[in-house]
Amino acid sequence: MHLLIKNGTLVTAADTFIADVEVEGEHIVRVGQDLQTPDDTRVIDATGKYVFPGGVDPHTHLDTPSQGTTTADDYLTGTIAAACGGTTSIVNFCFQQKGKGLNEVLDHFAARAVDKAAIDYGFHAMISDLTESVFDEISGLPSRGVTSIKLFMAYRGANMVDDRTIVRTLEASVDNGILVMVHAENGDAADLLQQQHLRAGKIAPKYHATSRPPRVEAEATARAAALAEVVNAPVYVVHVSCMEAVEEIQRARGRGVNIMGETCTHYLYFDERDLDRAGFEGAKYVYTPPPRNKHQPAYMWRAISNGSLRVVASDHCPFNFEGQKTLGAEDFTLIPNGAPGIEERLMFTYQGVNDGRLTLNRFVDLVSTTPAKIFGLYPRKGSIAIGSDADLVIWNPTAELTVTKPALHQNVDYTLYEGKQIVGLPETVTLRGQVIVENRQYVGTPGSGRFLARNSYVG
Ligand SMILES: [Zn+2]
Repeated sequence: MHLLIKNGTLVTAADTFIADVEVEGEHIVRVGQDLQTPDDTRVIDATGKYVFPGGVDPHTHLDTPSQGTTTADDYLTGTIAAACGGTTSIVNFCFQQKGKGLNEVLDHFAARAVDKAAIDYGFHAMISDLTESVFDEISGLPSRGVTSIKLFMAYRGANMVDDRTIVRTLEASVDNGILVMVHAENGDAADLLQQQHLRAGKIAPKYHATSRPPRVEAEATARAAALAEVVNAPVYVVHVSCMEAVEEIQRARGRGVNIMGETCTHYLYFDERDLDRAGFEGAKYVYTPPPRNKHQPAYMWRAISNGSLRVVASDHCPFNFEGQKTLGAEDFTLIPNGAPGIEERLMFTYQGVNDGRLTLNRFVDLVSTTPAKIFGLYPRKGSIAIGSDADLVIWNPTAELTVTKPALHQNVDYTLYEGKQIVGLPETVTLRGQVIVENRQYVGTPGSGRFLARNSYVG
């Protein structure tokens, strides 16, 4: 099957130019001017539109048990929403319940995804309990296409690991071509502060922010950097939320530590005042780390623009307001932590292009190319190159949308961005040469997403 995308403005992390893209089967086979193709070619006119490589979201929590409940999107609804937002690859976290082996957990998640996923998907392993048998499983992960492991420095009494576990996992990661990702917050400090808040009767959502302040995140970020430095391992910090943590990343990079930072779309938009919205609405903004003070979003835009942070992920961790967020109506520590964002990620990061905060190329780099490189998917994903998978987004830079819950496809009863007006939308999306989204509606076949066996981290 042939597909020709004509006259689009192609944008990669490096270049912007007008050209045709020819797709044969699942791959890009030619990029050039006035390409001639067989008569039965499907032709899409992209005049006046941008053509981006499909988004790569390395931080999602689909169909995931957490805090006594389960995220609201499964692999069907979550990946359809991703596709409609211009994302064609995700890497989902596979939480290790204590007592279970890594392979057992990965098998469980794989069974949940197969026959449902609308886009391609990979998995991150996660360790909460480093027993000897779990340690022995680490070396086998790359052979099943899993080349990253997440560790939590927060959530004392649940997923938090100690420094010994961090060092041992970092050492094993270097030996096996695996990248360690850390949730960097000092879990002992956050836990203590939470208990003090509750004892003082501070139970409202706004105390989510004051019980885990920026220095709690910055301390763990600095510690992760130091431990990685000790064993000469790379380390990736998920969901960096504030200047204090970015400064620790810059400091470590300055002395040669290979530490990489990701932020999430919501840190570019919201601040602690959103946690204090009327009624219990603030619970919608209870994600971790929390929204920071009102000066931080502008700082975070600069951090992604200047390269201090390299990836914008969604941390899509959707819980319904009704019935899930309300579990914490009397105690903010019981509000399930997380927010939806898999569909909004590209649209809202792109607003930085409209505002002059990001170049087009930097935008593509943040949401597609660099995550593909860091997580072993490049150049199959994250580029518009001959031989790459034909995962393409045709983007209309003049289309407008007032974002509302019904305008999105996520299976969750709210969006953080309700009522915000944006310019620039994904219109048509292809996954390995198949058109799966037209006019921002899913037209693909559920289950056609494939498991992504990822290569080892290099660099
Ligand atoms: Zn997360």
